[in-house]
This record gives sequence, structure tokens and C-alpha cells, in this order.
Amino acid sequence: MGSAQPVEPEQANTCGGNKVDSCGYSLPSASKSRGNVTNHKLPTTIAIAGAGLLGRLLAWQLHRAGISITLFEAGSFTPDAPQTTRAAAFTAAGMVAPLSEAVVSDEGVYRMGIFALQQWPTWFAQLPATDAPLFFNNGSLVVAHQQDTSELEQFARELGFILPGCKGYQHVDQHEIHHLEPDLHSNFHSGLFLSEEGHVNNREFLRLIGDVLIQSGIKICAQTPVEVLPGKIVTDSSEEHFDLVIDCRGLGAKKQLRNLRGVRGETLHVETKEIHLQRPVRLMHPRYQLYVVPKPNHRFIIGATQIESEDRSPVTIQSNLELSSALYTLSPAFAEARIIEMDTNLRPAFMDNLPKVDVQDGLISANGLFRHGYLLAPAVIENVLAHIFHRDEKIFGDLLN
Ligand SMILES: Cc1cc2nc3c(=O)[nH]c(=O)nc-3n(C[C@H](O)[C@H](O)[C@H](O)COP(=O)(O)OP(=O)(O)OC[C@H]3O[C@@H](n4cnc5c(N)ncnc54)[C@H](O)[C@@H]3O)c2cc1C
Repeated sequence: MGSAQPVEPEQANTCGGNKVDSCGYSLPSASKSRGNVTNHKLPTTIAIAGAGLLGRLLAWQLHRAGISITLFEAGSFTPDAPQTTRAAAFTAAGMVAPLSEAVVSDEGVYRMGIFALQQWPTWFAQLPATDAPLFFNNGSLVVAHQQDTSELEQFARELGFILPGCKGYQHVDQHEIHHLEPDLHSNFHSGLFLSEEGHVNNREFLRLIGDVLIQSGIKICAQTPVEVLPGKIVTDSSEEHFDLVIDCRGLGAKKQLRNLRGVRGETLHVETKEIHLQRPVRLMHPRYQLYVVPKPNHRFIIGATQIESEDRSPVTIQSNLELSSALYTLSPAFAEARIIEMDTNLRPAFMDNLPKVDVQDGLISANGLFRHGYLLAPAVIENVLAHIFHRDEKIFGDLLN
């Protein structure tokens, strides 16, 4: 590796102690997550393979630290329509839902997710101002129809089991549901309000960070599928050497990463002025769980199926019917909504559905974010940065490395 003296990104975040969250966990503060920088040589040239969620964030952070970055992307850098190479990051609903997702994963995912809730706003404050909001933190609401109340009760029991004593959610009755979301169907009698959850306006964020990267002058090689080796990027026609290569290819790394698989997810995007939601709403149902995430300009993302298949073909009739009819039961006002997009993508997942950061000399691989890209990217990025900068404390190293 060559030698440089990069400036650490976000040096402003170097004060303050650990906060405790509503479940009693100590949150790593930005200062603690940084730890001490030891006296190692740092890379001067880094290649990043994949310009999806992790690739863009790392390119941005490392460029800010003064390192020369080359970013390779197999598809278009600014995809404006669904395409087979488009990053899962563009299909995602962008929810940052540590409590809801703890129920389908574990307490480690919760801990990293709570970290994300503080890290995303910090990052957004460092991006250029934009008219469209990038982050919403109005919490989320979980509801079930009366005949499915047992699903809701089980969800609450599992939350209590995984996060005992957690005060981050509260039971709400019909009146409280109406107060939170007046446009929802009036027949929801019980629900859970998870007040701390948020969601990212993810396509706007990906567009904005893409613009920042283009303007920063880093080298971006779009339509360039690559293979990665320690210190080396191999394209169809050439080989290039770097001090460090970071593999952020998501499912594109499947040939190299044993046990990585794709998990199909389908979404509908609808537009209507007939209904307003303040926050994501999840519907508990015995056969499928649907969420509706409100986006700016009267748009909503309805998702998502989760199918053990690497088929990226368009949304099936069955999935469309399930998503649409569940949506209609949330509020009949959705009947007149216009379907403006249907999208399919594959979530990159290891067998345990948990992310991993693998560090070798000259090559770091960050992958397996599954359905938790926006939820876990801040933890993964800070962990990768801790390795690159040889910080003595590798944040979430017990969970990721
Ligand atoms: C339907 C759906 C809904 C989701 N909803 C949420 C949600 O609400 N909240 C949440 O936290 N997460 C959600 N996710 C998960 C999230 O999208 C992923 O976890 C995240 O995008 C993974 O990030 P990544 O950077 O590893 O991969 P990606 O975002 O997929 O990016 C990988 C990039 O690498 C490029 N690439 C691939 N192969 C090569 C190659 N050989 N050379 C160069 N480039 C290559 C790809 O083109 C792509 O641009 C959802 C996912 C899906 C499918």
C-alpha cells in the first residue's frame, strides 16, 4: 500500500458521549465509533466495484478523506428505469426500521439499525441542500384487521422477546390509529406505533449522491462489469492496480462469494392525491406482510414480496394481486391510485441473512445486506472505514467481521 495522510471524513463528529436508546442499549457515538487512528500507512488509490448503496456511500466518504477513488459500475450510473443491472438500492423502499426488522432478524440488526437512525441525518446534513426532504422520522405504524389480531399480538410478543424491556413502541387503539393516520380505513382496532423508525427518500438520495460524485471529479466507469482481486480490478479488456479494492457488487459478487444468494422482491409504485400517510404502515396478515411507504409527490411504494428465487423477471399477476388487494384493505381510497411502476430486484443475502465485512490484504468485501440495506449501511460503512483507517475500535466488529 502507498502512504498518505488523509483527513478523516466528518471530523466535526468528535465530541459527545454514548447515548442510551429506548431499549437500554448504549449507542456508539460518532466519536467512539472512530476510536484512535493508529500510525499505519493508508491507501492512496482505492477502486470500488459496484455503485449501488454501499459503493456510492464509500466513494463519497473516502473521496472526502482525500483518497483517489475509481468507481466501477456494471450498469448505468444514473438508471432512470427498471433494468436488469439496476442496484437493489433503487428498488428498495428505504425504510430504516430497527424494531420491525428485529422481529425477522435479531438484536444485532436492531443495534446497528438504531445507529443508522442517528447516522443518516448526520450524512444528509453534509450533502448539498435539496428541495426534496431526504429523511423522514415520523415513526411507523403496524396494524392488522380484526380477524388477524393474533398476527399483531405475535409480532408484539416477538419484539418483547428479542428486545426485552424496550420502550420504543406502544400499543394503540382505534382512536389513536385514527389520530396518527386519519386516512386509514376506520376498521383497524389495534396496532403498534414504533415512534423512532424512519425512512429515507432513497431515489432522491441516490440521485443526489450520484451528482456529488460526478461533480467531485472521481473517476466513474459505468457500463463496466469487473472482477475483483486483492489490489486489482479486471475488466473485459484490461487490468488495473490499486492500493485497495473494495467489493460492493451486491449480488454481482455471487461467483466469488460462496453462500451469497439473491432473494426476489417485488414492489408497486402508485400515485394518488386521495390519501395521505405520515409514515410507513405495515399490515400483518397470515399469508403476506405488506408495507406502504409514503414518498413525496403523492407517491407510495407498496412492498414487498420475499421469494427464494433469483428470477428478476417482471412482477407476477399473483404478487400484483396480493399487494394491490392488501393495499385496498388499508384504505378503499387506494382504489383510484394509478400504478406508475412495478419493480423487481434481488436482495443480496448470505445464508444467515446477516451482512459481512471481510477484510484481506488489498481487498475488502462488504455484502449480504439482504432486506436491510438502508437499515445497516451506516454500520457497514463505518466498519469498513475503521479498517481502512486502522482505527483501534472497529465499530460493530463483533457483528460484521
Ligand atoms: C424489493 C426490495 C425492497 C427493499 N426495501 C428495503 C428497505 O425498505 N429498507 C432497507 O434497509 N433495505 C431494503 N432493501 C434492501 C436493499 O435494497 C439492499 O440491501 C441494498 O441495496 C444492498 O446494497 P449493496 O450496495 O450491497 O447492493 P446494490 O444496491 O444492489 O448495489 C450493487 C451494485 O453493484 C453493481 N454490480 C454488480 N455486479 C458488478 C460487477 N461485476 N462490476 C461492477 N459493478 C457491479 C450493480 O449494478 C449495483 O449497482 C430492499 C430490497 C428490495 C429488493
